[in-house]
Amino acid sequence: MKAFAYVPATTEQEALAALAPERGRVMPLAGGQDLLALMKDYIAQPDRVVNVKGLDRTIAVLPDGGLRIGAAVRLVELAEHAGAAKACPALTSAASEVGTPQIRNVGTVGGNLCQRPRCWYFRNEEFHCLKKGGARCFAVDGENQFHAIFGDGPCHIVHPSSLAVPLVACNARFRVVGPGGEREVPAEDFFVMPDRSMYSETVLAPNELLTHVIVPAPGNVRSATYEVRFRQSHDWPIALAAVALAMEGSTVKGARVVMGAVAPVPWRARGAEQELIGRTVTEAVAEKAAAAAVAGARPMSQNGYKVQVARTAVKRAILKAVGALA
Ligand SMILES: Cc1cc2nc3c(=O)[nH]c(=O)nc-3n(C[C@H](O)[C@H](O)[C@H](O)COP(=O)(O)OP(=O)(O)OC[C@H]3O[C@@H](n4cnc5c(N)ncnc54)[C@H](O)[C@@H]3O)c2cc1C
Ligand code: SF4
Repeated sequence: MKAFAYVPATTEQEALAALAPERGRVMPLAGGQDLLALMKDYIAQPDRVVNVKGLDRTIAVLPDGGLRIGAAVRLVELAEHAGAAKACPALTSAASEVGTPQIRNVGTVGGNLCQRPRCWYFRNEEFHCLKKGGARCFAVDGENQFHAIFGDGPCHIVHPSSLAVPLVACNARFRVVGPGGEREVPAEDFFVMPDRSMYSETVLAPNELLTHVIVPAPGNVRSATYEVRFRQSHDWPIALAAVALAMEGSTVKGARVVMGAVAPVPWRARGAEQELIGRTVTEAVAEKAAAAAVAGARPMSQNGYKVQVARTAVKRAILKAVGALA
């Protein structure tokens, strides 16, 4: 690992002051599970890391029933928070399924949302792919069984964060701070496609920090997440889906359906949403919506199986949201 300086920031202001505008030179360190692995593999080589575990580590239930979650909250704290489970079951369910108890004990909300992609070419210093300034994507003609089935490249990563999917479904907002002050970004706009930003997966500038996640009050919204993993493994899911259904009695008045691990960003399934609005959820309605969700999928040479997996995840997430699936 390349030698680096360490800044133990204790406040948001100290952390911001230690960052720098050049990409990759100074990097925030939260639980360190992703960043330290990248540094050991010479994929990230910062001159300085800034410990951001001193950012807010509380989960506040707001007076209207919404949530304000600090970036330094650990995944285990989110997964086990009764107020958060009431406000957004899709989120706490996703948090409780991340990795293993050890990973959830160390990983933070901010680190989880800002973790880098798992593409094995990206993670191997021998492959100088598009994302590292090279001329080609090795996944196109290579091993692509876990890559994207939506988005059409030119980089075919899937977004790795399980929390990002329910947060987009539940229309959360992210508080971002930087040298110019603070702003709130809708979760859906926080994650960016590779054709817009090849070297980063979010709108964050190198000298900005994600400090809070704000989840709106649930009101009449029922939410759920459903994940499909390889044989109960602790690895990232093959596909997941999160849904948020605004209900009036048994009728769906509004729907947000989002798939994870299928595209470079959490992927909104608008076709599925249209199939749900105005209907009562039955198994047949959920099946039709799930079919619509994957209608535009364009799998690569080895990941055609993911289309059916994503379809199943969407169907089960819809049924789970209305209590028709445990
Ligand atoms: C075996 C294994 C299985 C896993 N399975 C899953 C899974 O199923 N689903 C899932 O979602 N995750 C999974 N993870 C990832 C895990 O959940 C961690 O959350 C994640 O690796 C990073 O969290 P961290 O706090 O350790 O972040 P770090 O490694 O400290 O940081 C990650 C990145 O985010 C940046 N960063 C950190 N905090 C901030 C901030 N506040 N503002 C701006 N940038 C910031 C860092 O600079 C770095 O680039 C798994 C990890 C392992 C090792
Ligand atoms: S999918 Fe993206 S990260 Fe992976 S090899 Fe292709 S360009 Fe690189």
